[in-house]
Amino acid sequence: MRFDHRHLLGIEPLRPDEITTLLDLADRYVDFNRRPDRHARALSGLTQINMFFENSTRTQASFEIAGKRLGADVMNMAMQASSIKKGETLIDTAMTLNAMHPDLLVVRHPHSGAVNLLAQKVNCAVLNAGDGRHEHPTQALLDALTIRRAKGRLHRLTIAICGDIAHSRVARSNLLLLHKMENRIRLIGPPTLMPSGIDAFGVEVFDDMREGLKGADVVMMLRLQRERMDGGFIPSEREYYHRYGLDSEKLGYAMDDAIVMHPGPMNRGVEIDGTLADDINRSVIQDQVEMGVAVRMAAMDLLARNLRSRPSEIIT
Ligand code: ASP
Repeated sequence: MRFDHRHLLGIEPLRPDEITTLLDLADRYVDFNRRPDRHARALSGLTQINMFFENSTRTQASFEIAGKRLGADVMNMAMQASSIKKGETLIDTAMTLNAMHPDLLVVRHPHSGAVNLLAQKVNCAVLNAGDGRHEHPTQALLDALTIRRAKGRLHRLTIAICGDIAHSRVARSNLLLLHKMENRIRLIGPPTLMPSGIDAFGVEVFDDMREGLKGADVVMMLRLQRERMDGGFIPSEREYYHRYGLDSEKLGYAMDDAIVMHPGPMNRGVEIDGTLADDINRSVIQDQVEMGVAVRMAAMDLLARNLRSRPSEIIT
């Protein structure tokens, strides 16, 4: 099992075999998490600090649960109440925490690149829990695990990523991962929400759902990232839903067994129909949440093994 990284800052530096290693371990943690007794020792004696400078439900909760199930001492920094509010810089806050000798720092920040910068200043392992519109590696890994379990493989699939591609770190990390694993990627959305020059990434770009979804095995919907928009990117939510919102009619253009994904938080009636999102025959949205805990356990376990430079005795 090889995973020679000090941090998990993005999908970009990972090799396909490292992605497979992490997903294989996460698969074992899925089984572990379904057992009644969920106490392991992979992170025992280690201190994990979660620093979320942007709102989060799934990511923060799952990193906390993951750390606790693996025996870490987990601390959630209340960023709203921290000295950042008194004008302390991100780096000063990080250096202060660093002096308390944490082992794992989980960071979400609204600025692209902020987490990488922080990782250069501290001694511990840093996990990127989403930085601006740059990367959200654990989301792409949990999406990959969900796809692999639902489809039985993670290569040669046709995967459509739909909606606000331009502002989405989820889209970017998924694109990098799915490309490395040799899938066919389609991006569907209005031209105003498509990053310029994206075709150079070896993806197909569509602004029409009927065309783009044809033959898709996986349909991944994205939220409109209003907090990253500084103007009118869409005429109205109603119009957007009409053209790009996923309902069962539009899903009919995809393969009969296509699965529906969404990273959350979902805006029902904007990018996805609520009934379809809840349809357990098509939607794997709740599976994604379950996979999130397992993937974060696997990621922290692998980084901790490198920290300690010895194999751990995780699952017995
Ligand atoms: N939760 C994901 C993220 O943090 C997706 C979203 O916010 O729409 O990027």
